Amino acid sequence: MSLCNQCGACCRVLTLAESPEQIHAMALLTGVLGIPSDSVFAAKHWHPLTRAAALERNPFYTGRLPADAHLYSCDQLGADGRCMAYEERPLVCRGYPWYDGGPRDMELADPDCGYFHDVVMEFVIRRPEM
Ligand code: SF4
Ligand code: SF4
Repeated sequence: MSLCNQCGACCRVLTLAESPEQIHAMALLTGVLGIPSDSVFAAKHWHPLTRAAALERNPFYTGRLPADAHLYSCDQLGADGRCMAYEERPLVCRGYPWYDGGPRDMELADPDCGYFHDVVMEFVIRRPEM
């Protein structure tokens, strides 16, 4: 069971493997080719964040990311912590955090994220095999 408490922490600081330049290049390419892609949404709504700004927005999460991580904010995050583009949000948002797979070794955005329950259960279930 996973319980999202809608704290909004996972939207305050985003990290992607791609740099801003790579996102814009991919958005251009997929846009021209008519290929559905998160890059088009990201190029429009996700904006580079300095590490200092990211630390202010979510110190718990940012502090656990590699120093060279590409960091972004989303201009569709409402003041109430809710997504203002819920119907058109990209796949990377829809699947967070496990993307139809099991819990993985990755940083969750908040110490009270409801998905932490999955991590604990994964540990409990796997423990006899250790
Ligand atoms: S950090 Fe976790 S609990 Fe908070 S909004 Fe994101 S998924 Fe939900
Ligand atoms: S599009 Fe919505 S769900 Fe995705 S990062 Fe922005 S506010 Fe969060």
